[in-house]
Amino acid sequence: MLERLYASLPEKTKKHERFEMPVAESFQQGNKTIVRNFSSILKAINRDSRHAIKFIAKDTATNAVIDDSGRLVLNGKFSSMQINDLIKNYITQFILCPECKRPDTKVVEKQGVRMLKCEACGAISAVKGL
Ligand SMILES: [Zn+2]
Repeated sequence: MLERLYASLPEKTKKHERFEMPVAESFQQGNKTIVRNFSSILKAINRDSRHAIKFIAKDTATNAVIDDSGRLVLNGKFSSMQINDLIKNYITQFILCPECKRPDTKVVEKQGVRMLKCEACGAISAVKGL
């Protein structure tokens, strides 16, 4: 019975592991919120930090900077749940391929428009605000 269940799983789910959302570790210090592992999150998504910072600053309506140790420092108090929601929104919007949901994308320019190109499935998607 168990064998038959396994055999009926589509090839795809067996071969490709799902993208794991990086988890932000943040804490509050005075009126600031610090994301301790921001640089490793950026590394995991392999994307330019300026765009991510701009998005986060806009979404929280506050000032966001990266300090000397690669931590993200936000003016204002945000819970770790809020921070993780932000990161998740960013990744879903700008990193994951809209077609296959894999994170192997890069930004390409087509006729002056920035598009998301997926290295995994080859899809080129228009993403607003990229
Ligand atoms: Zn894709």
